[in-house]
Amino acid sequence: MFRNEELLLSLLNSAPVIEGTPTDSLEGATGRDVARSWGGTGSANELSRLRRVRQALQAIIRREDRGAIGELAGTLDEVVQMPHVTPNGVAWELQVPDDDRLAAGVVLAWSSVITEFPGRLRACANDKCTQFLVDHSRPGTARWCSMAVCGNRMKARAHARRSKADGGWPGAMS
Ligand SMILES: [Zn+2]
Repeated sequence: MFRNEELLLSLLNSAPVIEGTPTDSLEGATGRDVARSWGGTGSANELSRLRRVRQALQAIIRREDRGAIGELAGTLDEVVQMPHVTPNGVAWELQVPDDDRLAAGVVLAWSSVITEFPGRLRACANDKCTQFLVDHSRPGTARWCSMAVCGNRMKARAHARRSKADGGWPGAMS
């Protein structure tokens, strides 16, 4: 997986529903460790910034507008990119307050992923799931965050619906 995509999906998918219960790995001491593992400071300011950016990006991907663009713009307010010419091309150095660096990096990662793979960043088709995916399949038909988890569950549900329509007993629909 590409670096940008990994960072973006890590943030988008950091609040999974586990066995029906919403969780948030960006809360408290766990959040501090997670943010540090992504190269952040782990401060409370950084975590609240990351949670707001996560919510804004999720709203944009789901095409819900809740001031999401303004939130992302605010994240980049104090960001400056400085070019450095090297023998390997131009390298861009991000100048940004420490607590905003990670959130700004995620916004830039989101932009590069949707530019490189237009239409391929989407929410999992399981409406009980809160995860996101970047579809790298050739036909562009991937719908689930994970075939092992949501893919099989949704197929079982569709199968149960078909059986019911055929007059069969619906069985154990989840
Ligand atoms: Zn899913």
